[in-house]
Amino acid sequence: MNINAPWVFVSGGSRGIGKGIVKMLAAQNYHMVFTYKSSIDEAQTLCQEIKQQGHSCEGHQCDVSNAKEVSTLSAELISRHGSPYAIINNAGITQDALLINMKEEEWHNVISTNLSSVYLVNHTFLPEMIMAGEGCIIHMSSVTAFKANSGQVNYAATKAAMIGITRSLAVEVGRFNVRVNTVAPGLIDTEMLNHIPAPHRKKLLSNIPLGRLGSVEDIAMTINFLLSPGGRYITGQTFVIDGGMTA
Ligand code: NDP
Repeated sequence: MNINAPWVFVSGGSRGIGKGIVKMLAAQNYHMVFTYKSSIDEAQTLCQEIKQQGHSCEGHQCDVSNAKEVSTLSAELISRHGSPYAIINNAGITQDALLINMKEEEWHNVISTNLSSVYLVNHTFLPEMIMAGEGCIIHMSSVTAFKANSGQVNYAATKAAMIGITRSLAVEVGRFNVRVNTVAPGLIDTEMLNHIPAPHRKKLLSNIPLGRLGSVEDIAMTINFLLSPGGRYITGQTFVIDGGMTA
């Protein structure tokens, strides 16, 4: 276990894609710090598993849409570990409804969890990365940014916004050697897909040239590459990982 290793912050790391990223990057000897909103048991089990494998990890309950919670946690992390090598803005939710039926609350919940969190997390850690002269920021978008999905106007707004943020922020911070990129997954086999009814799921699968849902490892491997020396000249870009769904 090496707690002096470069550390990586992952929002929403207790389940799904975030969990896959935490596991893969821990195996690459990064010290992993992740947040979750409510799934304490999953977070503790993940940390135990990673530590048993000889790697280092810490999970924190922190609602990343809440400015106070983010600033309290980030201050503590910076005082203990210094600047993060990378931030993975992964936490996200869906609250689907046709726009004509969408409640104001459903709009605001998705905007604050998926998008305002990106501002809060980046804003709190960026000064440290700039001073360190190194850093890597990843935004977890979705193919919904490019391809229509009825009932997901709120979600699509957040995922498309990340692509714009990535381009502008990459230009703002490139001179400090901070790189900013977006990953846009297609259909990945996590709990987020549980609400899709079986017949609709089957139809969606038939639109994927590679003929299968993506795995969390498919996403984690791309992120591992972007953080590695292989990614050192890549910034301001969006990587679509969807088995060809948007081809
Ligand atoms: P899951 O629902 O499986 O996991 C979501 C994670 O985010 C959980 O760890 C959850 O914590 C955390 N989270 C949710 N809200 C908050 C919050 N306010 N503060 C802190 N953590 C929070 O989702 P996925 O793994 O499927 O999705 C991860 C990301 O990938 C999302 O941004 C999603 O939009 C994106 N994505 C997913 C796709 C898919 O097919 N699965 C496709 C394209 C993009 P807790 O367990 O405590 O609730």
